Amino acid sequence: MASFSLHGIPVSRGIAIGRAHLLKAAAREVKHYLVPEEKVEAEVRRLSDAIAAVNAELQAVRNDLPPDAPSELAAFIDVHALILADPIIVELPLKIIRSRHYNAEWALLTQIDELSAQFDEIEDAYLRERKNDIRQVGERVLKVLTGSAGSLPVSSDPDNVAPQMIIIAHDISPADMLQFRERTFVGFVTDLGGQNSHTAIVARSLDIPAAVGMGNASALIAEDDWVIIDGDAGIVIVDPAPVVLEQYRELQAKLLRERKKLGKLKKTPAITRDGTAIHLLANIELPEDCAGALELGAVGVGLFRSEFLFMGRTGQGAKLPSEEEQFESYRKAVVAMKGRPVTIRTLDVGADKPLDKEEETALNPALGLRAIRYCLSEPQMFLTQLRAILRASAYGPIKLLIPMLAHAFEIDQTLALIGQAKQQLRDAKKKFDADIPVGAMIEIPAAALTLPLFIKRLDFLSIGTNDLIQYTLAIDRVDHEVAHLYNPLHPAVLQLLAMTISAGAKADIPVAVCGEIAGDTKLTRLLLGMGLREFSMHPAQLLAVKQEILNSDVATLEPAVRRILKAYEPVAIADGVERLKLL
Ligand code: PEP
Ligand code: MG
Repeated sequence: MASFSLHGIPVSRGIAIGRAHLLKAAAREVKHYLVPEEKVEAEVRRLSDAIAAVNAELQAVRNDLPPDAPSELAAFIDVHALILADPIIVELPLKIIRSRHYNAEWALLTQIDELSAQFDEIEDAYLRERKNDIRQVGERVLKVLTGSAGSLPVSSDPDNVAPQMIIIAHDISPADMLQFRERTFVGFVTDLGGQNSHTAIVARSLDIPAAVGMGNASALIAEDDWVIIDGDAGIVIVDPAPVVLEQYRELQAKLLRERKKLGKLKKTPAITRDGTAIHLLANIELPEDCAGALELGAVGVGLFRSEFLFMGRTGQGAKLPSEEEQFESYRKAVVAMKGRPVTIRTLDVGADKPLDKEEETALNPALGLRAIRYCLSEPQMFLTQLRAILRASAYGPIKLLIPMLAHAFEIDQTLALIGQAKQQLRDAKKKFDADIPVGAMIEIPAAALTLPLFIKRLDFLSIGTNDLIQYTLAIDRVDHEVAHLYNPLHPAVLQLLAMTISAGAKADIPVAVCGEIAGDTKLTRLLLGMGLREFSMHPAQLLAVKQEILNSDVATLEPAVRRILKAYEPVAIADGVERLKLL
């Protein structure tokens, strides 16, 4: 067969080379038939039993999590268990069997399809991807019903001569990923999924090369095909020519050598050649991520995306996490960081009101009532979160980070609410850090263009380049149709970045970058040359960025970056950035 390549979304870095193993989706093989009246109750039992079996299976996986399993896994498995406890999933299909006499598989699929269609209407990418969690749970039940459970090959070659295996699937659940860990499994490719899908997040924390959102890879790739995953580019090469295979093997070996070397940098302070100290911080989603961040040498948490505590609760009977529950999570994080600062970002949810599914969906959710706008419109909910964060600040250094601010009055209202939360705690005689620093995410161009408003009112800034790029270039960051326009090196983006960093330096307030570019080693020198001294990123990137820092000389980078900032032509900018490597 001729070689071909597929392009998807890079979600986890590195190169994987192996033979394809296809994971068949049970949903695609389901039989549809009508059950005679006298067999309906038996069919209902068949489905209930399968659901109970999957429940038991999930509990078993949950209880047997190895100590080194990524922290997200337990939470994701819990989400699946919750889905499986939801009457929409467990009871409605039983009703369908009784009313329409569908066989169990068909009834289940009908309900899942119905739910999926509802999820497709949701504009918020994070929530839309939760549809996949429901599908994955459905898949597990279907596999039990069709007897195709455990479709993974059972043994790896004892002499280790068998080629390593790359999983190709329509979709993979986080719980399935855990099973893969124990086998010869070096990468995965899925048709579905995006940057925010749970599976992508788990892949990143497992550090396994992966590409998702590949469209119909599982239909195009055959069992045993040779496959290369270029996880940095999101490219999958199928049946590569020998010369290509050889090139990638060399690249892979080089990456492995580099990674080994990087491991030695964990305790090395991040100081440039000319003696400038740089703060390397971690972006985390859950308090359990702190241990890994510390292990990799993070000097603090630069972004705790608190919305993960609020997610997975939508659906019927959805509840917000209570003050107590939130407090416990924040406290856990700050205690785990052992005196290093933890920057907690207040709730950043989308415009589709995920906390109340009944409300209308906004037409342009990225421009809608999201993040701080949403919080200011729900002051009681916001106050609950602020109290929880403030209370945790009695246990270690916490900074409060507010997303999506653009207007002076939003800052003022936020500060007033923080003041109110403090007063409530004083009245309740609860301890907190009265001087907790409050900072703004700079992620709307309007904010970057009016920095004096922010600097006057706040203690620090953190540039959210993921959104800053989205809003500057007017491209939806989750729409793959415009993904090619997403460019951190667009001169407009560079200007806003440079302005923010230098305004912070002039006013002597700390400025961090916590968007994805902070972890991109190709941009480390550019950011250093702009004057950035705080980088916050996924912990897996920390050491590679540190290495760039150790090899950089700020004094030489600065004039070179000033020249780049004067350029407008893309070629000149790209060329300038490339040359920074030589300095
Ligand atoms: C950003 O926008 O760059 C950011 C860090 O926040 P998020 O990706 O969570 O929107
Ligand atoms: Mg953002």
